[in-house]
Amino acid sequence: MELANALQTIKLYLFDMDGTLYLGDRLYDFTIDLLQTIRATGGRYLFMTNNSSKSVEDYIRKLEKMGIAATREDFITSSQATAYYLHKHHEGQTLYVCGTESLKAELRREGFALTENTDDTDCIVMGFDTELTFRKLHDVSYLLLTRPEIPYIATNPDLVCPTEFGSVPDCGSVCQMLQNVSGRLPVVIGKPSALMPQLAMEKWGVTGSQTCVIGDRIYTDIKSGLNAGTLTVLVLSGETTREILEASEEKPHLVLSDAGEIRDTLQNL
Ligand SMILES: [Mg+2]
Repeated sequence: MELANALQTIKLYLFDMDGTLYLGDRLYDFTIDLLQTIRATGGRYLFMTNNSSKSVEDYIRKLEKMGIAATREDFITSSQATAYYLHKHHEGQTLYVCGTESLKAELRREGFALTENTDDTDCIVMGFDTELTFRKLHDVSYLLLTRPEIPYIATNPDLVCPTEFGSVPDCGSVCQMLQNVSGRLPVVIGKPSALMPQLAMEKWGVTGSQTCVIGDRIYTDIKSGLNAGTLTVLVLSGETTREILEASEEKPHLVLSDAGEIRDTLQNL
């Protein structure tokens, strides 16, 4: 598949952030120009993240520091996708949220009732909880063991979250601890599930053939796009090497050295 041909029909670009638009705190030199080019050529882009510990406001500040102006509408997060899933499947249920105050605020804003009382709980939601306490692990263990049928949902499956020195445990690792206790694994919302791309397409009224997922990880970004039926573009500016790509069973539609090639192509369409 040729990039120029593939981009002809694309109206919505869903970008992974770290490894795709920047690395850590270092913005790639093409990023601002790429985003402006998408807007200038009539396209729309969204930033798509599995991280449920930060609020959209936190991300807006991070991007602003790097010189990218963004608003709430420019994001699709696993917290938003979790709310979307809860509205569809667990409307009206009272949630016990093992997550940050940011995640709780997001779910309250969506109209859900939250509780810290296990007796009042209808549904458990696990996030990437950078404010995790043993009390919460205790409560979720209690719920999983005493009420084996209770709905159990996690915002994202990531085992680790990158830091300056390596990584820290993410939502998926905490869920593994709880699996040791209860034998249960949650329904997982973030990438590689199709839910974030699906929510974005529904919100912006576009189809899979009008949507492109761009990211640096095959097992999360690319898989979410494949699961949602979008065009998928792998960039080699982050985690994935040619060796990893060759060894992977899952293949993206297109592979680019970095997302700057999308800018170059759009400017010449
Ligand atoms: Mg990435």
